[in-house]
Amino acid sequence: MIRLESYLQGQWTSGEGDGSTLVDPASEQGVATASTKGLDFDGALRFGREKGGPALRAMSYAERGALLMAMSKALHAEREQLIDDSILNAGTTRTDSKFDIDGATGTLAYYAGLAKTLGSERTLGGLGTVEGEGEQLTRSKRFWGTHIRTPVRGVAVHVNAFNFPAWGFAEKAAVALLAGVPVVTKPATATALPTWRCIKILVDAKILPEGALQLVCGSPGEMLTHLRTGDVLAFTGSGTTGAHLRRLEAVTERSVRINVEADSLNATVLGPDVEVGSETWFAFVRDAVREVTQKTGQKCTATRRIFVPKQHMDAVLETLAEEMGRVPFGHPAAEGVRVGPLASAQQHKDVREGLDALVDAGAKIAWQGSGAFEGATEGKGYFVHPTLLRADSPRDVGLVHEREVFGPASTVMPYDTPEEAAELVALGEGGLVAAIYGNDKDALRTLVEGIAPWSGRVLIGSKKVADQAISPGLVLPSCVHGGPGRAGGGEELGGRRGLDLYTQRTAVQGDRALLDKLFE
Ligand code: NAP
Repeated sequence: MIRLESYLQGQWTSGEGDGSTLVDPASEQGVATASTKGLDFDGALRFGREKGGPALRAMSYAERGALLMAMSKALHAEREQLIDDSILNAGTTRTDSKFDIDGATGTLAYYAGLAKTLGSERTLGGLGTVEGEGEQLTRSKRFWGTHIRTPVRGVAVHVNAFNFPAWGFAEKAAVALLAGVPVVTKPATATALPTWRCIKILVDAKILPEGALQLVCGSPGEMLTHLRTGDVLAFTGSGTTGAHLRRLEAVTERSVRINVEADSLNATVLGPDVEVGSETWFAFVRDAVREVTQKTGQKCTATRRIFVPKQHMDAVLETLAEEMGRVPFGHPAAEGVRVGPLASAQQHKDVREGLDALVDAGAKIAWQGSGAFEGATEGKGYFVHPTLLRADSPRDVGLVHEREVFGPASTVMPYDTPEEAAELVALGEGGLVAAIYGNDKDALRTLVEGIAPWSGRVLIGSKKVADQAISPGLVLPSCVHGGPGRAGGGEELGGRRGLDLYTQRTAVQGDRALLDKLFE
């Protein structure tokens, strides 16, 4: 078994004892161990602040962008190794592994490209972007106010979820590093192998200045008690852990910035005008099937609730069942398999309990895959069959809007009017993404207006874009990712917008000519 060491203060180091065992979710065999017991977290965070921060701030955007591009290329060069690690430890099929890894390299490359548009000059001892045109503050045209943004003087601690071990690390790191802020990244222990490999590749390639990127493999221990004013905590994971982190003393007493990406009951609405068999209908079906099955439903943006006009309930369920029935599931390395196992024993338990809870609450199983799992050893592995539920009275089955079953399952529900569909989506109390399929402008306007306040992103699948392969679960670095309420209230990515979390906005007031010279 591989021992996954942490990379702290410029060296690979391992905690005491056996620590946690990471397993192959298809066979339940151990593949690696990791321990953080006794590691010097305080020293690591200080090392980031004192070594990594100044080194990054001494560079221009263009220079930091070049680092990101080098990171992207180095990881891409080891793509096959990363795919193998992902299949082995995350249980993802080859296609799903690529989705994670190419997402990582693509996001790094995107931010490398964005760096070129941010100017190559180093100002204000680091970043110093100027926002907007500035404001005249008194009658005199001389007295002027302008807003600048400078990188925070702390370290960014990134605590990630198990489902995207490569992309989760890279999408957060790309933004922080470009902003000039050093990173300590902590993957979820259960699937830390691909993240460990990413960091190993980057350390071996000697791309980043020392202290710019550190890795914690294993339990976070007391690491977060060492956060100080000026640090940033960015978290992706369950709402329960997110709520716990918000109550950390560092957050409540020392104003450490926190960004939370948590649970989400993402919705898809089939518009009232969509005819069965139309282009828009097929786009809806294609995306819904992908969003329920891709990564075995373990995507924060996966579709959990499907709202359809009442008269289409049976046709939708029949078509989705037929299409999902064609998706081969089984061992992630087996030829042709598109749905692998869940990532861990805990997920396996949670998904099965979640499905039972939805049924107890009044939802009915409308369809469930069956049969043997291709290439898997019988009785081994965290496999589940894809499931479609139906809830014909959506308001009477409250749990369907509350409990995120983090697996290949979704509930189909009827609505009467676009207004009602928007209200039903809102019952999820905040989500990452909602998709709407239709072409009727009035209905679309009603749906977007009703859904947008509850959602970080809305995708409209209409006739003219029906052939586009961008389905709602795909997070693109140029658009924001995050959502209100249950989704954590956070926001990441979104191109330049993502840098805000890692920079301090300051209003600077004074002689306009002087300010122009300072910030030219
Ligand atoms: P989790 O149990 O909350 O764990 C997430 C991360 O938090 C892991 O790295 C975990 O470390 C760490 N952690 C757990 N307890 C902690 C504590 N007390 N202090 C500090 N860190 C702690 O969530 P998960 O099971 O990995 O992920 C599943 C959930 O994440 C789903 O509900 C899903 O909706 C959500 N998710 C959201 C997004 C999004 O972008 N909004 C994306 C992906 C997943 P250990 O692994 O070492 O325990």
